[in-house]
Amino acid sequence: MDIQFFMPVKVIMGFECIRNNADAFKEMGKKALIVTGKHSSKANGSFKDITDVLTQNAQGYAVYDRVMSNPDIACCYEGAALAKKEQVDFIVAMGGGSPMDAAKAIALLALQDIPEDELFSGRYKSDFLPMVLVPTTAGTGSEVTPYSVLTDHKIQTKMTISSPGLFPKIAFLDARYMENLSYDITVNTAIDALSHSLEGMLSKKANAVTDMLASESIRNIALCFDAMKNKSLTLEHREKLLYASMLAGMVIAQTGTTIVHSMGYSLTYFKGADHGRANGLLLPAFLEFIAASDSKAINNILSLMKLKTVDEFRTIIDILLGEKEQVTSHDIAGYIKKVKQKSIENCIITPDDEDITNIYKKSFGLK
Ligand code: NAP
Ligand code: FE
Repeated sequence: MDIQFFMPVKVIMGFECIRNNADAFKEMGKKALIVTGKHSSKANGSFKDITDVLTQNAQGYAVYDRVMSNPDIACCYEGAALAKKEQVDFIVAMGGGSPMDAAKAIALLALQDIPEDELFSGRYKSDFLPMVLVPTTAGTGSEVTPYSVLTDHKIQTKMTISSPGLFPKIAFLDARYMENLSYDITVNTAIDALSHSLEGMLSKKANAVTDMLASESIRNIALCFDAMKNKSLTLEHREKLLYASMLAGMVIAQTGTTIVHSMGYSLTYFKGADHGRANGLLLPAFLEFIAASDSKAINNILSLMKLKTVDEFRTIIDILLGEKEQVTSHDIAGYIKKVKQKSIENCIITPDDEDITNIYKKSFGLK
């Protein structure tokens, strides 16, 4: 049995976990840069919990709250400039994947002078500001991954910084922050987490440990399908989704993602589809593509969701995602050029251009 597994993040989950573990912040440093989005963290209580704990610990802080969804490179350089100016020695980020990913790039750029054209080179020293991450969506699992996914406007897609230095020191998971998350964001992010676990199981890098985590994650998300469809999510469901997205993050931290994510980036960039939604639009056709060569792998995944066919899965996804974006064959011809080779090679069945074209076409009802 071949296993490689590396997960250096201390995970602390539970209601009020930040206030109940205020001491954990003390060892992080003297002054934090708080990295967050424009509004939500101030409305959901996470911003106040963090600033109260830092104040109680006599730790200083500066705030960078200009992170947009699908953060771009410029935003990370701006945040890093503030980190340097304010002479912070650690970072606390709360929000969805966008602020967490921007925080990771800031943790790198605050200590290493890297020109923009070398940002994704993979050549980094070992200096990163230590981070505390607080997810307030249940989707990306960024709190336990070594990735920062950024929008690169020059090439009109997303690129990933990947380094063990991007793992935070601590992740705090409190589902209460998600109580007022909108229906659309809840669904889109849950599907992102589901996509991480499905892609992880269908990756060449899957192993017994990642499959165990992915299975537990998929089961928990499927237990929330009905509540999502009926718009009747309780705090208990929110907790399940947060737990499942964290497990799914641990999966892709080892396996990476596959073509689903890479194909989805174009749907986000050119059609404005939220990240998780973009993956969800493609998932049923991707499962069908794999099933044609490896039906056992797909039947195993379907059984975890208590489903028998990919069509049953498609029906659930269609209900959750509603009306689809308009995508033409001309659009698809451009998108396939942007699918990353690494993501193609990571699938247990390697797709060619025609397979990828067919997955796009099937997903948008094109012949
Ligand atoms: P997001 O872009 O971080 O947030 C989406 C929206 O949700 C924002 O408008 C945000 O508002 C709002 N929001 C966040 N938490 C909320 C809460 N508790 N209550 C109400 N509103 C809330 O979305 P995301 O799907 O979590 O993250 C997507 C990004 O993560 C993409 O860039 C994707 O590529 C990346 N990603 C990274 C990894 C990884 O391993 N690093 C994995 C998958 C995806 P504010 O802006 O006001 O905060
Ligand atoms: Fe994702």
